[in-house]
Amino acid sequence: MRYPKLRELKEAIRALLKGPYTSKFPFKPHEPFERFRGKPYFYEKDCVGCGACVQVCPARAIEMEDVAGERILTLHWDLCIFCGQCQANCLTAKGIMLSREFDLATTGKRQELYQQIRKELLLCECCGELIAPHDQILWAAQRLGPLAFANTSLFLFYLANINLIYKEKGVERKGEDLNRSDRFRFLCPRCRREAVLKS
Ligand code: SF4
Ligand code: SF4
Repeated sequence: MRYPKLRELKEAIRALLKGPYTSKFPFKPHEPFERFRGKPYFYEKDCVGCGACVQVCPARAIEMEDVAGERILTLHWDLCIFCGQCQANCLTAKGIMLSREFDLATTGKRQELYQQIRKELLLCECCGELIAPHDQILWAAQRLGPLAFANTSLFLFYLANINLIYKEKGVERKGEDLNRSDRFRFLCPRCRREAVLKS
């Protein structure tokens, strides 16, 4: 007859005293361990709409669309593999975060398993080209502090945000030549180069 080894005996006694390692889920709620990677969520207040999470998502679970002056970010939970890359590479570190939710079973349609947020975009006042989301520019301006005043777009945006200047809506100068005064408008890099060279 073979006797159990001392280590196995110790484990058996511990299990007898502490109870089984497994939980009684689904009959009782299960509390995952602290660093468990579960369902991710966008946090609209902290997301600046940069799109870095879209680039790094290996499952292509995050979709990004720029429509009518808005950036629409859609997180598809049915495609997500909970790898945590979006959280690890988020520009603000708080725009998207994984929760500890793991019980995702549903009787609903998989197309309904998503979260969507919208971010207003800043467009070039000359050609209508996308510059960046408003929140991303503001985030950069705030991080740069006084250095933001070295960049015309950041400087103008900063002033517009504290209501010191009026930010014009829409594209007004499409097809027209740029002149010196246009340097103090919200311009994409191409139009800014043109405005500087032509003035
Ligand atoms: S956890 Fe991974 S798969 Fe899910 S959205 Fe983030 S990067 Fe994509
Ligand atoms: S701020 Fe974070 S969550 Fe928002 S788009 Fe950028 S990387 Fe994604």
